[in-house]
Amino acid sequence: MSILPQGLIAPVTHLARQCREALLPGTCLLCGGDAGKHLLCPDCHAELPAAPAIHCPQCAEPTTHGERCGACLKEPPYFDRTVALWRYDFPVDRIIHALKYQHRISIAGWLGQSIAVHLNADDQWLIPMPLHPARLRERGFNQALEIARATARQLQLPMLGNCLARQRPTPPQAELTPPERRRNVRGAFACNADLSGRHIILVDDVMTTGASVGECARVLKLHGAREITVAVAARALKH
Ligand SMILES: [Zn+2]
Ligand SMILES: [Zn+2]
Repeated sequence: MSILPQGLIAPVTHLARQCREALLPGTCLLCGGDAGKHLLCPDCHAELPAAPAIHCPQCAEPTTHGERCGACLKEPPYFDRTVALWRYDFPVDRIIHALKYQHRISIAGWLGQSIAVHLNADDQWLIPMPLHPARLRERGFNQALEIARATARQLQLPMLGNCLARQRPTPPQAELTPPERRRNVRGAFACNADLSGRHIILVDDVMTTGASVGECARVLKLHGAREITVAVAARALKH
C-alpha cells in the first residue's frame, strides 16, 4: 500500500512522469524514430488524419460546399464555430490516450501550440472544458486546461482556468440520441464569471457529439459571452 494519502497519489505520479518525460531523448511518440525536439517524427506528423477541409463552419462536420450542416440548421448550437485539427481516428486517438492515461503532459503543450496556429490573437479569452472534481483527483490534471494553457501562452491571451465548473459527472454519451445527449448534460456546468461582450475560445481535447461543449456554450452565453469558438485537437466525425 502506498504511504501517500489517496488524494496525493495522482498528482505525485503526474509529477514523476513529467520529470521522466523531460529526461527522455526525442523519440517519436508513434514509431520510436528520431523526432528531434518534437513529439512526432516528420513522417508520422504528415500522416495524421486532417479534419475535413470543407466543413460546417459551426460544428466541423464535413458538408459538400462548406455550408452549415442539417443538424446545425435544425437546432443551432450555442457556439458559433469549431476549429478542429484532426479527425479523432488512428493514430490521433492513441496520442490523446497517451496524454490522458499515461500522463504524457508534453503532448498537451504540443496540441495547444498546434491549435494556436489556427486561431487569431484578437481580444479573446480562453476557457478549458472542466473536469468533474472526482475525475480530476483520479487523473491528477485536466488535459483541456493543459492544452488551453499552451494555446494561451502561444497567443498571449488570458486563460480563465476556474470560471467554468462541472457540477455533476455526466454518464457516457455514446449510446444516446442527440436529444438524450443534450438532456444528459443539461445543468452539468456552472460559470462564476462575467463574460459580457467577450469572445470566448472554449478548449477541449476531443469533441465527440458536441453536446457537452454545446451546454458549456449555453452557460457561457448566459453569462454574457458574445461569441464562442470551440477549439479542439480532434473531432470525432459521424461519416
Ligand atoms: Zn514517427
Ligand atoms: Zn454543423
